[in-house]
Order: sequence, then C-alpha cells, then structure tokens
Amino acid sequence: MTKSCVSMAVATCPVCARQHDTGELLLDRRLRDSLEPKTCTGWKMCPACQKLRDDGYVALVGADKLKSSGSELGEVWRTGRIVHLRASVFSDVFDAEVPEQGMVFADDETLDQLEAAANRTEQQDDAEEGGDHG
Ligand SMILES: [Zn+2]
Repeated sequence: MTKSCVSMAVATCPVCARQHDTGELLLDRRLRDSLEPKTCTGWKMCPACQKLRDDGYVALVGADKLKSSGSELGEVWRTGRIVHLRASVFSDVFDAEVPEQGMVFADDETLDQLEAAANRTEQQDDAEEGGDHG
C-alpha cells in the first residue's frame, strides 16, 4: 500500500471488536510519506456500542477463558456473543457497580442466565413503571 504523510486513525471497539474510524487524522510531523492509510490507535467503542452505553446499557462480551491468553482486551478470546444489559439490571444481577469502561467479559453460561434475567426484569419494569423516562 502507498504510504503518505497523513493517516486515518482507526480504533478497535472493545465490545464488538470492529475497527472503525475515529475521525482523527494523523500527520507525520516532518511531512514524510511514512504512514499507512490507516493507523490503529488502540481501543475505543464504535459509535453503535457507544450509543448503547450512552443510553445506559452495559455490554457483556462473551469470552472463553480457556482459549484466552490473558485478561487484557487484546488477549481475551471472544465468542462473538454480546449482551447489552441496562445498568440497573446489571447492578441487580451482579450486586456490583457498573464498570467504568461500560463493558465486562462474561462466559456463555453467565450470558445465558443474564439474558433470562434481563427479559424478566424488563417485563417487570415495563409493568411497574409504565415506560417512565427521567
Ligand atoms: Zn462496537
């Protein structure tokens, strides 16, 4: 690929693992043609996942511990399964604070239980609160 002095910054979404443009341009400070068309700058949620997070959801990302080489974002072996839980449901189920990064890894078994719990709770919420938005 042709190199140039500008490069489009791309980031990998920690939730769905898609690469997406961050909208930033990188520039070689000496204007040498040293850069690939795209430069991966690290981990950042993609617009779709970020939107869910902004809407108050926590992403549970399916991970297989046995196949993972570690617990870092780049080391976890992803099963491809993603469950979005409302923050209030997450706190209920895990009895824990919502993670600052808006996502956690979970194994398949946990995701099965969560999906069932989430469905139950959503129905209850709808009945009790009548879709009240605060
Ligand atoms: Zn994403």
